[in-house]
Amino acid sequence: MKKEWGFKENHELHAAAAYTIRNILQAIKGNVDEAKNLKELIHLGHGDPSAYPCFQTCTIVEDALVESIRSAKFNCYPPGVGIEPARRSIAEHLSKDLPYKLTPDDVFLTAGANHGIEVILTVLARPGANILFPRPNYPIYEARASFSTLEVRHYDLLPEKGWDVDLDGVKALANSNTVAIVLINPGNPCGNVFTFDHMKKVAETARELGIMVIADEVYAHQVFGEKPFIPMGVFGHIAPVVTIGSLSKRWIIPGWRFGWIAITDPLGILQQTGIAGSLTSCLTITADPPTVIQGAVSRIIENTPDSFFMNINKLLGEASDLLYKKLKEIPHVDCPHKPEGSMFAMVKLNLSDFDDIVDDTDFCMKLAKEESVIVFPGNAAGLKNWIRVSYSTEPKLLEDAIQRMKEFCYKHAKRSQ
Ligand SMILES: *Cc1c(COP(=O)(O)O)cnc(C)c1O
Repeated sequence: MKKEWGFKENHELHAAAAYTIRNILQAIKGNVDEAKNLKELIHLGHGDPSAYPCFQTCTIVEDALVESIRSAKFNCYPPGVGIEPARRSIAEHLSKDLPYKLTPDDVFLTAGANHGIEVILTVLARPGANILFPRPNYPIYEARASFSTLEVRHYDLLPEKGWDVDLDGVKALANSNTVAIVLINPGNPCGNVFTFDHMKKVAETARELGIMVIADEVYAHQVFGEKPFIPMGVFGHIAPVVTIGSLSKRWIIPGWRFGWIAITDPLGILQQTGIAGSLTSCLTITADPPTVIQGAVSRIIENTPDSFFMNINKLLGEASDLLYKKLKEIPHVDCPHKPEGSMFAMVKLNLSDFDDIVDDTDFCMKLAKEESVIVFPGNAAGLKNWIRVSYSTEPKLLEDAIQRMKEFCYKHAKRSQ
């Protein structure tokens, strides 16, 4: 008789992965009725428009990678924190919007922003510590935190206040074991943009509580409303700021897996407390962004023309206008706040209007099955009975998708209405 195998399936991994955007969208997509599917699939579920010709990255970006490969200088292992020229370019790029000058030592390269999230949560984890996440949130945060000793506490973003932070809620949640507050700006999933005054209040609250701000700015400068993009690092003299950035969304190359962590800490608190050193140690023992990508970064950051970004913002702005206008024509859903940045809008479902739709997940599943349109259930981002709609798609497809959503809503609405 053989001894039983000494290894077994890790159910905790399944549980964590189940709540990621990828897996949820996969499940929804699985509902599209291939056999009866006469309509083209329209994906408004994720923020990856790289497949659409109008959202293709700039040739300068492609050339930079080809040059990096051809130079034969970047076939080596990189240092754990990343190669110096790339860190310097990112430091200079970020410093343009800050009242301080960052140095290459303030920048750490990561394999995309998701890796940056993993790294910072790993660094901050210790038994008994807790961290404040927004609700709704970008769900990778919860998935990663479930693998650390960090206890997660959620503060609310307030739809009736343009998705501003519930600052009183933050103060009520925090205690002496709180390590950080996470803020995503421009917002995913809400598409909101914070004002200077509001961000200053968040920084002052963090100072009062003795915690750092983790500023997820992967949509930095992707704004098209009234409000300018203000980096959280501007308030680094109030409370230390750890910024998470990426090439994925702004340069539309999410598959390249390149991001960074930057610390804005003019008072030197992260140095004193050893957080900066812990980041270096953590990056020494985790995966690196490929050296050839690192080798292309300086050229990408320094040479991408403003016209490229302006065009992308124009497309996203027009798409958000279109979405907002068209949603107003659907009586059973409500978008309380017009998106001002990123690629998403949160839309509330008036469930009592529907005959046979029990919740947001049910809505997404049936919409996929009947109309071949994919949207993301708000419940998976922390807000039940909302949906997140991405408008980073071609205008014609967006218009079609909203039309189908409208027909779907009429079809499922209670007859008495
Ligand atoms: C897309 C996204 C990320 C992940 O970015 P990558 O660089 O592709 O890993 C992180 N945070 C938010 C808020 C995002 O929307």
